[in-house]
Amino acid sequence: MEIRSVAVIGAGTMGAGIAQVCAQSGWQTNLFDAFPEGLERGMNAINEFWDKGIARGKTTSEQKAEWQANLTAVNDMVEAVSDVDLVIEAVPEILEIKASIFQVLASETKDDCILATNTSSLSISDIASASGKPERVIGMHFFNPVPIMKLLEIVKHDLVSEETIAFAQKVAEKMGKTSILVNDVAGFATSRLGVVIGNEAIRMLADGVASASDIDTAMRLGYKHPMGPLELTDLVGLDVRCDILNNLADSFDDESYLPHPLLVKLVTAGDLGKKTGRGFYDWTSGEKVERNDA
Ligand code: NAD
Repeated sequence: MEIRSVAVIGAGTMGAGIAQVCAQSGWQTNLFDAFPEGLERGMNAINEFWDKGIARGKTTSEQKAEWQANLTAVNDMVEAVSDVDLVIEAVPEILEIKASIFQVLASETKDDCILATNTSSLSISDIASASGKPERVIGMHFFNPVPIMKLLEIVKHDLVSEETIAFAQKVAEKMGKTSILVNDVAGFATSRLGVVIGNEAIRMLADGVASASDIDTAMRLGYKHPMGPLELTDLVGLDVRCDILNNLADSFDDESYLPHPLLVKLVTAGDLGKKTGRGFYDWTSGEKVERNDA
């Protein structure tokens, strides 16, 4: 099956990045968010990314105009999905929200439309069964920032069809991503390891082992990680990582995955990382600044 058009549901950190790469791949792309301000923020983030690319000489205004023409902000979910070849969902990591969206998607999309979820940790088969059309549902787990990160983790479950898997692999290739194929086990091959390292770094910070920046430097220079685990948690979103840890604790029935109390405290305070200006670091000046009060 050829891909010509895509709808992305949720215009946050990930949805905006996914819609941007879809538009750049030459596909007609509808971006939808349940909240008008979320949709506006997502569209602004994409335009800012393109404008920075022009300022740095990495792209041209003609190229931006071409990509922009492929991208439409749509305020109605049914209108966004009814005539596309692929839907990629990127709403918060809460099963009830995703399941209710997939119920609508199954009835409001074309019969051969592929339905993908960008979940980081939830069971794809739970989401697929909520749709009633599990053979068309697959996990397509992108990484942040989507336009830059090369990996696409494709997650299969027992009832997905071979055609759907092949379609997702082709989409990854056309987006310029390297895909891996992973079984439907909570946290897949990436999030499970990533959040455990992050949660342990938070425990070490709370225990006074070292400052946030020294813990991050330890992993960057000692283990060659491109970014330390606390800075990465700020980039991903503390709320997102908290939800993933809670989902892993539930799925494996293992309390050792539960988010550290310091992470829960910061999330409760609204310090969600770079997107709100504060997380394990203060980003309000536009630079990363060590916090003494986290
Ligand atoms: P986010 O909070 O930045 O964005 C979520 C967006 O969904 C918001 O704009 C919100 O308004 C919108 N939304 C909420 N309910 C909705 C609904 N019912 N219908 C449509 N839109 C709705 O979250 P995010 O970081 O983009 O994460 C989205 C998904 O991607 C999650 O499943 C997360 O686990 C996954 N993910 C996140 C990252 C990351 O680094 N942040 C990486 C990989 C995967």
